[in-house]
Amino acid sequence: MSFRYCSVLFCGLAGILSLSTFPNSAWAQSKQRNCPEPALERFVRHQVAPEESLKAIAQSYNVTPETIIRMNPAIRNGKVTVGKEIIIPPYDGIVVKVGRGQTLKQIAAQHSIRADALFEVNGCQENPEVVFVPQLKKSQNSTQAASTEPNVLETISNSNKLNGYPLAENTAVAFPYGWQINPDNGEVFFHSGIDLSAQPGTSVQAIGEGIVVLAQEQGSYGNLVIINHSNGMQSRYAHLEDIKISAGEEVNKGDLIGTVGSTGTPTLKKPHLHFEIRSSSSLGWVAKDPWEYLK
Ligand SMILES: [Zn+2]
Repeated sequence: MSFRYCSVLFCGLAGILSLSTFPNSAWAQSKQRNCPEPALERFVRHQVAPEESLKAIAQSYNVTPETIIRMNPAIRNGKVTVGKEIIIPPYDGIVVKVGRGQTLKQIAAQHSIRADALFEVNGCQENPEVVFVPQLKKSQNSTQAASTEPNVLETISNSNKLNGYPLAENTAVAFPYGWQINPDNGEVFFHSGIDLSAQPGTSVQAIGEGIVVLAQEQGSYGNLVIINHSNGMQSRYAHLEDIKISAGEEVNKGDLIGTVGSTGTPTLKKPHLHFEIRSSSSLGWVAKDPWEYLK
């Protein structure tokens, strides 16, 4: 279990970060919400082989030497010691301790990444003590990169767009995607999909051609259908009343997959379809704003 590596990391960095524990429930919590495994739990240890250079190790893990140096204060002058173990994160980035009263939103802003990306990278934890902040590789045209909002989600996704609609008719957005305030309890939370107003029993259709990878009850999602589309895209349809297809089936755009319901724990009491778009990445299935894909 890679969690062990994390504990080792924190012991190693205890002097710098003044922390010793990592919430054990974090990954359980994130699994429940279908979030990627937190980046901090995906660190691996690498034992330096004879004649292996820092650069070669960095290349083999697809991270920069700077990332490895930052994670391993024992590395001096860019030289690794044969036989010693070093810690390697799943991708470039830095470990940041969350200050008292500091929010993920603030940390995301400080590091110029999207708050929802930071949230997902860290397994959708509500109040992490430490987070891993991914850093994008410097692009050649950095002037362009600087002028637009740096965006992990966009960078790791691809451009092939789905453009269907999960209901027969366009309806109102009952609750949008992203950081929202829960209307029931006032808490700020991340809404990984979009809620489309629809009466119970309304037909739900596939927004594009693909393969059904899940069609069953799934915790807070209730009755859930997940369809994988080409080019690493995925759509999810939650809180369904009935499911009309099975895992493994191929579907075309517009095919009936289920009906609107209120199974699981919907955020809104008002009847709706919770619809998500996700893209495959090294971070797992990362939520995208479905609005960009709806026609
Ligand atoms: Zn929802």
